Amino acid sequence: MTINLLSDTVTQPTNGMLEAMFNAKVGDDVFCADPTVNNLQEKIATLFGKEAALFFPSGTMANQAAIKLHTQSGDQMICDKWAHVYNFEGGGAAVNSGVTSALIDGDRGMFTAEQVQQLINPDDIHYVNSRLVCVENTTNKGGGACWDLDELKKIKQVCVENKLAFHMDGARLFNALVAKNEQPKEYGELFDTISICFSKGLGCPVGSVLLGSKEAIKKALRIRKLFGGGMRQIGYLAAAAIYALDNHIERLAVDHKNATRIAAVLKASSYIKKVEPAETNIVIFYTNDAIDDVDFVNKLKSKGVLITGMGQGKLRMVFHLDITNQMVDVLENVLSALEL
Ligand SMILES: *Cc1c(COP(=O)(O)O)cnc(C)c1O
Repeated sequence: MTINLLSDTVTQPTNGMLEAMFNAKVGDDVFCADPTVNNLQEKIATLFGKEAALFFPSGTMANQAAIKLHTQSGDQMICDKWAHVYNFEGGGAAVNSGVTSALIDGDRGMFTAEQVQQLINPDDIHYVNSRLVCVENTTNKGGGACWDLDELKKIKQVCVENKLAFHMDGARLFNALVAKNEQPKEYGELFDTISICFSKGLGCPVGSVLLGSKEAIKKALRIRKLFGGGMRQIGYLAAAAIYALDNHIERLAVDHKNATRIAAVLKASSYIKKVEPAETNIVIFYTNDAIDDVDFVNKLKSKGVLITGMGQGKLRMVFHLDITNQMVDVLENVLSALEL
């Protein structure tokens, strides 16, 4: 048995999802003529109370399109130092949009309205033009941490007062909604644009969406074309996303429960130095200084457990749809019996 905790992107489509894909009605989406894509876009826009949505091949492309539609070359984006849009999108903000990034030294990938305020430049020709604030929910490098909705409302206020656009990288937003028992519309009304991944906890093979106003999504359509992201009979993948919205949201609570359980096992282990709070499906932890993290990853691998080493002693497990109860039992036994 292999227990693959490398990421929630490793899931295989379920039989139900494959059946939904097989039965999808499709058309040429470049002509906006794929009925299943149109259904998906309408369904998720309605769910979040936004005017429109656009299907993208990846979360990176959805984020990059958002950055481009909110900015002009030479503008500045404000985000956390751990943000995916800054660290893990190949420098796309600079390459695609000519945008520089002002980084906030946040807490587990999250920051305050005050920290945003401090980074906004005055209207003076010497300074780069502050134009966009990006937040990430849940935070990836921050171990699946969830934002406080009240802090987001304060940041929104700062954005309105300073004419800044507000984008959420919501790759795992549904994990946050389930964990905090919040409603999609509470987020829809705060943000100009939100990106969401179907290929993470929701268990789809591919796909993300960008949500926004009609005007924003019209711009995003042009940018998606520019990025080479126009797709044809893509309803097969939109059908998987619709299936996930209908069947895979509430079950995220199972992943969260598994993560909490294993975080407690790690905390009680003599070889562990620190475990970050496991708010959703990600567990980040550190072994004792005497233990080499690469050796630790390999030792677990030899027992059929795959985890990620993130460097500097930081280790990560991600729980998802393909992790069964039986696997969590086995994992608990492996961790408890581990000799180092
Ligand atoms: C996965 C992820 C994305 C998008 O990644 P793709 O691999 O391009 O789909 C964006 N932001 C965060 C926080 C992510 O975890």
